[in-house]
Amino acid sequence: MQDMILLKQGEIVLKGLNRRRFEQRLVSNIARRLRPYGSFQVYTLQSTVYVEPQSDGCDMDGALEALKTVFGIVALTRAAACAKDRDVIVEKAISYLAPAMRQAKSFKVETRRSDKSFPMTSIQLSQYVGGLLAEAFPDVAVDVHTPELVVNVEVRDRAAYVHAGAEPGAGGMPVGSNGTAVTLLSGGIDSPVSSYMIAKRGVRLIPVHFFSFPYTSEAAKEKVIALGRRLTPYCGQMRLAIVPFTRIQEEIRDKCPEPYFTILMRRFMMRIADRLARDNGCGALVTGENLGQVASQTMQALAVTEEVCTLPVLRPLIGFDKTEIVDRARKIGTYELSVLPYEDCCTVFTPRHPELRPDLERARAAEAELDVERLVEETVRGTEYVRLEEAEP
Ligand code: ATP
Ligand code: MG
Repeated sequence: MQDMILLKQGEIVLKGLNRRRFEQRLVSNIARRLRPYGSFQVYTLQSTVYVEPQSDGCDMDGALEALKTVFGIVALTRAAACAKDRDVIVEKAISYLAPAMRQAKSFKVETRRSDKSFPMTSIQLSQYVGGLLAEAFPDVAVDVHTPELVVNVEVRDRAAYVHAGAEPGAGGMPVGSNGTAVTLLSGGIDSPVSSYMIAKRGVRLIPVHFFSFPYTSEAAKEKVIALGRRLTPYCGQMRLAIVPFTRIQEEIRDKCPEPYFTILMRRFMMRIADRLARDNGCGALVTGENLGQVASQTMQALAVTEEVCTLPVLRPLIGFDKTEIVDRARKIGTYELSVLPYEDCCTVFTPRHPELRPDLERARAAEAELDVERLVEETVRGTEYVRLEEAEP
């Protein structure tokens, strides 16, 4: 039996009756993610997912890297499978873990035994394998307290498995297991992170970007497409909606009081996002808003902005410090793209003195100068979609 990958499922195991549905979602997300790396069999037993290559040509390193971005997996490791016989297990440990053993100064063996019919206890098997490994690698000390290397032996239903310890996975829940949401994706640092965080809770995303050609350039649009692609290893393939926003911004600029420019613009964004969300059967909107970061993110401004929405607005970054958001952006690989110079449509008609405590009635009065319904309708109709295929991490 050969080299394979073992994945430990996350919170899915808590889901009781929904468990089968969650598991199926996870397995199909994994199978799709593995396609570029060869042919694999993927199945689950006892909240572990088994990934077995079906040919010698499979790219196991690539597969392992790709699986690190799949939500719903808390830990993962490459492992070798073998027959459930103590001497076969020892042989496998010696051959499969030789490179790791040669690098380590100390080791211990840890055994998990879910097959209770196996004739040794976990402790007995650990001692047996540990003793023979110590003989095979006399330069490596046994250290049961703080070993450099933990040799893991798992005796399960179908086989025994040997590995050198699991690494953390992406965590979260399988994308698609918790519904769909529209996420407002600008070219900035925050919104890719807020999108990532909601996808991590199992939500499939439809990113929406507001684009103000010619005030914002084609390059700014390409940047958002690149950011969306960068998220696909986590979020899976997506359809990015590009909404032409220029007309609405010009109307606001020409007919509304300057301190209200930004807040009115944001109300239009939310109206359109809400419309697109309902048209696509979504349950929520997601933004990268963060309390107090800019004038449009005071509590009063958030209240006036979300008043136009019918769906809940999820703001996963609301209580983060900027440095925490930046750290997260670096970790998921969006930061480098986000800091490329660009114009956002929000910065095109920035008021000199934005209203920090906007008033709902005054916002409504300002909007009375505009044909809100028609503007929203026409803008939604002009929306274009760009397909973002699942990219390699
Ligand atoms: P970001 O770094 O994500 O751009 P920000 O701190 O610049 O956020 P704002 O410009 O006030 O904040 O935008 C707040 C949120 O509104 C963004 O996080 C994003 O969700 C949404 N948003 C802003 N501009 C756009 C846009 N052009 N297209 C889509 N969504 C946008
Ligand atoms: Mg922005």
